[in-house]
Amino acid sequence: MEAVSIGRTILLKMAESPFLSRQATQRAFVKRATRRFMPGEAPEDALHAAQMLKAEGRGTVFTKLGENIVVPADAEAVRDHYLWFFDQLAMSGLDGHVSVKPTQLGLDLSYDRCLEHMMVLAARSESIGKTFWIDMEGFVYVDPTLKLYRALKAKHPQVGLAMQAYLYRTQADIDALMDLHPIIRLVKGAYAEPSSVAYPVKADTNRNYFDLSDRMLQAAAAGRCMPIFGTHDIPLLDRLVARAKAHGTPDRGYEIHMLYGIRDADQRRLRSEGRTVKTLISYGNAWYKWYMRRLAERPANVGFVGKWMVGEGTRGVAIRGHGPRIAPNARRSHSSTPVAQLPAGRLTRSFAVCGSRNSKRSCIHCLAGRPSCSAGAYLRLSSAARAASAKGG
Ligand SMILES: Cc1cc2nc3c(=O)[nH]c(=O)nc-3n(C[C@H](O)[C@H](O)[C@H](O)COP(=O)(O)OP(=O)(O)OC[C@H]3O[C@@H](n4cnc5c(N)ncnc54)[C@H](O)[C@@H]3O)c2cc1C
Repeated sequence: MEAVSIGRTILLKMAESPFLSRQATQRAFVKRATRRFMPGEAPEDALHAAQMLKAEGRGTVFTKLGENIVVPADAEAVRDHYLWFFDQLAMSGLDGHVSVKPTQLGLDLSYDRCLEHMMVLAARSESIGKTFWIDMEGFVYVDPTLKLYRALKAKHPQVGLAMQAYLYRTQADIDALMDLHPIIRLVKGAYAEPSSVAYPVKADTNRNYFDLSDRMLQAAAAGRCMPIFGTHDIPLLDRLVARAKAHGTPDRGYEIHMLYGIRDADQRRLRSEGRTVKTLISYGNAWYKWYMRRLAERPANVGFVGKWMVGEGTRGVAIRGHGPRIAPNARRSHSSTPVAQLPAGRLTRSFAVCGSRNSKRSCIHCLAGRPSCSAGAYLRLSSAARAASAKGG
C-alpha cells in the first residue's frame, strides 16, 4: 500500500475514536487549526464568510457539522436549526444553499422520521428558491440515501444529491437516476471503504470521476441532468471544462463546488473565467470526524497541525507558498493593515496567532497562505512590523 494511502487509512480510523474526539475538541490549538477549513463554529461566522464570497461572485453551500445522531430529539433540533437558518438565508440575499447528512437527521434511528424531517426542510428550501442538498455518507447508507433522494425529488425538484466516484456502483446508480433529471454533486468520496465496494487505487477513482462526469455533461447538454463537480482536482476540472465545451454544455449547465479554505485562488480563477463556483462552508462544534476526513484527504495537512503543536509558544511557523509576507517578530498593536495590502511571501506563526486570537473575523483565511484575505479580515501589526513587512523582511 502507498504511504499516502496508509496515512489516509489511519486518519480515517482515528476519525471514529470517541476518545480522540474528546481529546481533540478540548485542545484550543486543534480548534484553531480547524480554522483553516471553517470560518468559525457559529452560523453567523459562516454567513459572514459567505457575504465576503458573494462579493467575488461565489455562491455558498452551508452545512452544520454533525452526524450519526442517536437521540430523536437531536434530529428535531437539527431540523429546527435549519429552519431558522433558512430564515437567515432568505433575509441575507445570498446565493446560499443547505446541505445535510441523513444521519444528522436520524437515518440511523428511523428512515421514515428522517424522510419527514427532510421533506420539511426541502419544502422550506424550495419556498425561498434554494437547492436542498443531501450529502452521501459511508457505503452502508447509499441505498437508503438514494431512496430518500427519489422520494424528495418527486415532490421538490430542486433537491441535489452527492455521489461518490470511488464506489464501483456509482455509474449504475447515476444511470438509474437519469429519468429524474437529477442534480448530482459528484465527489471522489471521503470515507474508508473496503476494496470490495470502492476502488482502492486513487488513479482508478480519478478515471471513474472523469468518465462519470463526461457522461453527465453529455446528459446536461441534452437538459437531462445538472452536474456539479465537487472536487479540488484542478487538472481534472480543467479537462472537464474542455469536455463541457466539446459537448456544447452551456456554462450555466454545470457548477463547480469546493470546500472553504481549499484551493481558494483556483476557486477565484475559475469564477473569473465564467464558471459558476460555490464554496461549501461548514460550521458547528461537531467538527472532529469532519476535520479528520479533511486531514485524510491530504495527510500532509497533519504536518500543519503538528507545527501548530510544536510552535505553541513563540516560534515561527512558515508556510511555504504564496501567503502574505509578515515579519517573523510581528506583534499585535492597535493599528490594522488589510491583509490584501501585504506583499506575498511567508506566513509566520505570529500572523496565525494574531488571526486566531483577535476575533472570529480576523486572519482565518490567511492560515491557508493566500495572497489576500477574501473575508476582509484585518491583521494587527506594529508599525515596525508593518515597515519590515513592506520591505519584504
Ligand atoms: C463541495 C464538496 C462536497 C463534498 N461532499 C461530500 C459528500 O457528500 N460525501 C463524501 O464522501 N465526500 C464529500 N466531499 C469530499 C470528497 O469526497 C473528497 O474527499 C474531497 O473533495 C477531496 O478530494 P478531491 O476531489 O478534492 O481530490 P484530491 O485528489 O483528493 O485532491 C486534489 C487536490 O486538492 C487539494 N486538496 C484536496 N483535499 C484537500 C484538503 N483536505 N486539504 C488541502 N488540500 C486539499 C490538494 O491540492 C489535492 O492535491 C465533498 C467535497 C466537496 C468539494
